[in-house]
Amino acid sequence: MPKTSGNRPTTDRLIVITGAGGFIAGSLVRYFHDRGHTRIRAVDKKPLSDWYQRVPGVECLCLDVSREENCRRVCEGATEVYNLAADMGGMGFIEKFRIECMRTILITAHMIDAACRAGAERYFFSSSACAYNTDLQKDPNVRALKESDAYPAMAERGYGWEKLMSEMFCQEYWAERGLKTFIARFHNVYGPDGTWDGGREKAPAALCRKVIEAKDAGAGAIEIWGDGTQTRSFMYIDDCTEGIDKIAHCEELIATPINLGSSELVSVDRLVDMVEEIGGVKLRRTYKLDAPRGVAGRNSDNAMIQRILHWQPCTPLREGLAKTYAWIEGQYKDRKAGKRTVRDTI
Ligand code: NAD
Repeated sequence: MPKTSGNRPTTDRLIVITGAGGFIAGSLVRYFHDRGHTRIRAVDKKPLSDWYQRVPGVECLCLDVSREENCRRVCEGATEVYNLAADMGGMGFIEKFRIECMRTILITAHMIDAACRAGAERYFFSSSACAYNTDLQKDPNVRALKESDAYPAMAERGYGWEKLMSEMFCQEYWAERGLKTFIARFHNVYGPDGTWDGGREKAPAALCRKVIEAKDAGAGAIEIWGDGTQTRSFMYIDDCTEGIDKIAHCEELIATPINLGSSELVSVDRLVDMVEEIGGVKLRRTYKLDAPRGVAGRNSDNAMIQRILHWQPCTPLREGLAKTYAWIEGQYKDRKAGKRTVRDTI
């Protein structure tokens, strides 16, 4: 059995989560809160009014964690630190804003050092499948990526290299300073309470929005980035938060990058089919071939996570997409009705 039980902090010890105004960290705050944790410090540089989720009873700080002094303040008294803050978005963002992506290294450098100095027992880092060698992802019929495929390194320019370097920080803080670090390589996460408009959104949210817009406008058409053949796997947010908890409390995984992703591979065209089914429409497709599209194919090899945790993300894509579509449709209608919704822009 994986050595996770007994490693969790008692529910009154301080958990710090950065990036909490965003999608995944916001859901992680709710996850720990719903499991009885009474001391959670949520941090983001966005003004509180722009956070996707605000959970009652959680200490919320609006601070920029690329600054050393803020990281010291944020980590004070922490038992566990989950660092998910990053300047990122979907392909449209990471292909265009490589400098912003690389500057996230400042967050890593200061947060991990502050966590270590504060005597935190555990530090979690959200890495990405973009850390993998892009040469292995040139065919839509990909072989799923296993953890050792990150080296020899040829990561996604900018964003992927920052993730690789941050992983190395985690490994060296364990080797040299004894901080227990945990590293998950997320593969495309989707679900409610995330970016769906503005330029940072990822494919599932963008396609839900486009179908909703097309229905609303009676346009009958949808524009797709790329030629529709690119393949990916998509992980539902509830699997992601559960996986983070399991990984961060497994001693066998200290300083060891591990995939956290679904292994249900679909093409972009198939993804559009599913969203159309959910929306109850059939649209004429146009393909924007010069749009950012990322690698040709990418899937998560889940042999390691199954072996060590006896678990893997398992929400069927169709099921998670239906929940995501419903949430985005609600947001879309609220915005149209003049109600305030949260918007993430570049
Ligand atoms: P997100 O953009 O919704 O959330 C990130 C949050 O970090 C934002 O709210 C942003 O304001 C905050 N932030 C950025 N710079 C900051 C700073 N200097 N100080 C404080 N806060 C700052 O993104 P997400 O999808 O929730 O991603 C969370 C983490 O997971 C990131 O590290 C990301 O690279 C990683 N990841 C996400 C995916 C995915 O599919 N969403 C895939 C792979 C990896």
